[in-house]
Amino acid sequence: MTNTLIKVDLSQSPYENESVHNRWHPDIPMAAWVNPGDDFILETYDWTGGHIKNNDSADDVRDIDLSTVHFLSGPIGVKGAEPGDLLVVDLLDIGAKPDSLWGFNGVFSKKNGGGFLTEHFPKAQKSIWDFHGMFTSSRHVPGVRFAGLIHPGLIGCMPDRPMLEMWNRREQDFIATDPGRVPPLANPPSAKMAHMGKLHGTARDQAAAEGARTVPPREHGGNCDIKDLSRGSKVYFPVYVDGAGLSVGDLHFSQGDGEITFCGAIEMAGWVHMRVNLIKGGMAKYGIKNPIFKPSPITPTYRDYVIFEGISVDEEGKQHYLDVHVAYRQACLNAIEYLKKFGYTGAQAYSILGTAPVQGHISGVVDIPNACATLWLPTEIFEFDINPTAAGPIQHIAGGVDLPLSED
Ligand code: ZN
Repeated sequence: MTNTLIKVDLSQSPYENESVHNRWHPDIPMAAWVNPGDDFILETYDWTGGHIKNNDSADDVRDIDLSTVHFLSGPIGVKGAEPGDLLVVDLLDIGAKPDSLWGFNGVFSKKNGGGFLTEHFPKAQKSIWDFHGMFTSSRHVPGVRFAGLIHPGLIGCMPDRPMLEMWNRREQDFIATDPGRVPPLANPPSAKMAHMGKLHGTARDQAAAEGARTVPPREHGGNCDIKDLSRGSKVYFPVYVDGAGLSVGDLHFSQGDGEITFCGAIEMAGWVHMRVNLIKGGMAKYGIKNPIFKPSPITPTYRDYVIFEGISVDEEGKQHYLDVHVAYRQACLNAIEYLKKFGYTGAQAYSILGTAPVQGHISGVVDIPNACATLWLPTEIFEFDINPTAAGPIQHIAGGVDLPLSED
């Protein structure tokens, strides 16, 4: 039987679980040790540690303290792993906790983190998604049902001290260019609400004050939110510390490319069954700076899409130079306007783009002055035809149902 190395009790605060942490720091002790070739299971909280509830109010999304996130399970020490190695991680399987067969998708308030379209959706909203085996549907977003492309939003190895100091320095310098910005440019270390695993005493307090936040992806992987890094894929992580220190969390039942709603995908508590191996000296052998991965042999299959184009001209008509961020935002806004013609509210359409297996592509980055990004919306996730026809769109979604919304 496969060993479950880390268990989480969803009725217990993650702060009481010493095999969980929410900062990156090389002094956090390993929660457990394994040998190369071992396979094992890690259970995880959802990224908020149970803050978001299965109900019809978005107040919890509005009120979340973002200094608490993300709750990660680990770090796992791998015997013989040394700086410069590659840690090979097979994601053998991933699932929801059997006592928690649901997930959430939230839109953060602009005043509390925001999202990709925060200027258009500045208030907190959420949708609840129920799991039926490998499929999901939502009482807040009628007319769609799809298979999960289950993946960890966040997985990576511990930084060493020089890397931690580099992260903190470059992000602090960036924040200093516009310190009052809402939402902020980045999140500096914050000892408040830091959870440092098994570390205690003054060593803990020191590490909490300098531990890197878990929000961005960095050289080690981290919060990459790649939907295709799903169960069945194989990942190669750079190793910076003896034992590697692999941690994982922020499991997603499904997500569209870009995780545009920021809170984010369909967030869930669950478990990851993985196997680890080493490629000694693999970073130099393969010229690796950031992780690489191999895709899963099993993914939901969608053959038909309506594909929305976007260019780097913003909502005010201002020209931007080959800006993919602006172009993808226009593609998303174009898809939302289209879905509204079938009766969805803007927030429901936004939630579909954040949760369903939507593809985002960088289509062109050389044709000055406009970048072109495309958003691929699978037609088969809908219970009705969303193709454009001469007869025009039919309002399939009756009014009256919308995502719960919180006023600031
Ligand atoms: Zn997430």
